[in-house]
Amino acid sequence: MKEIFNLYKECRLCPRACGVDRTITPGACGESAQLSIETAVLHGGEEPCISGEKGSGTIFFNGCGLRCIFCQNMEISQKKILKAKYYTEDELVEIMQKLADLGATNINFVTPDHYLPHIVYAVKKFRAAGYTLPIVYNCSGWETIEHLKLATEVVDVFLIDCKFSLPDVARFCLRGKNETYPQVVWNALEFLYKQVGNLQLDENGIAKSGVLVRHLVLPGMVENSLDIINELFFRFGADIYLSLMAQYTPSFLDLPENCGNENWRESLKRCLTESEYGKVVDLASDLGFENLYLQELPEPDDRYIPDFASHKMFGKW
Ligand code: SF4
Repeated sequence: MKEIFNLYKECRLCPRACGVDRTITPGACGESAQLSIETAVLHGGEEPCISGEKGSGTIFFNGCGLRCIFCQNMEISQKKILKAKYYTEDELVEIMQKLADLGATNINFVTPDHYLPHIVYAVKKFRAAGYTLPIVYNCSGWETIEHLKLATEVVDVFLIDCKFSLPDVARFCLRGKNETYPQVVWNALEFLYKQVGNLQLDENGIAKSGVLVRHLVLPGMVENSLDIINELFFRFGADIYLSLMAQYTPSFLDLPENCGNENWRESLKRCLTESEYGKVVDLASDLGFENLYLQELPEPDDRYIPDFASHKMFGKW
């Protein structure tokens, strides 16, 4: 089973395809082949079908190959201001078992791409030990078909972002790197809808398999969101499950200098407005999307950015 770790030796786990040997050096995701986990918690703030009653058993990995300038998990995805903690593959299995034993609704891997070999290994051992909880892959949409083929061997629910469809917005938000994101995400979604289908819920309304698309509406970039809604409708129809997130918070911004779009730079320094979110929700409603998850706009004191610095392992969020 450990042959899977050979994938780290010439890493092409994400479309960046660095080809580096991560057993020797980190790739552009910032991570070596050593498994770095920031925390594991029971998360009550995901969509109701993911959190359930007791919370989603959420495991946050450090590092990321995509690296958005507004990342809401910037502390652990890029800045790495917290001391890294490393675990073995068997310790990952123990973390999953502990979350399950605490009553987690599922096991939810956040920003999992660059650790897929560990995940495949750990889920197989978790299943062999008799655990049946759904496995949720909480990913960015920046995944190759080869990556997704491997992931579908062990994942039940793809909680997948669809961040950018307009190339200019992708280029700006990704600092001119990874600008093939729009093409990559549409290919990924086409593959997943064919392979695992739309989201399926159990009799208690809990996600058990399939795809749930997430889109974070960004201030000043409503055109990008409207384009995504239209494209989702034409490609997959109005019965897909779609979560429209309004929680954008301008913390830990890492705005590029001289990026050529002052309006976008300024708009990312504020939260979303009712009117911006309303336009996106209205279009989804007008097109007949029936399986929509919506959010209230955050109040000034709301904190949607995870507080990694003072978290407690196996605590509740
Ligand atoms: S996962 Fe990391 S090392 Fe591998 S291709 Fe992507 S950025 Fe490069």
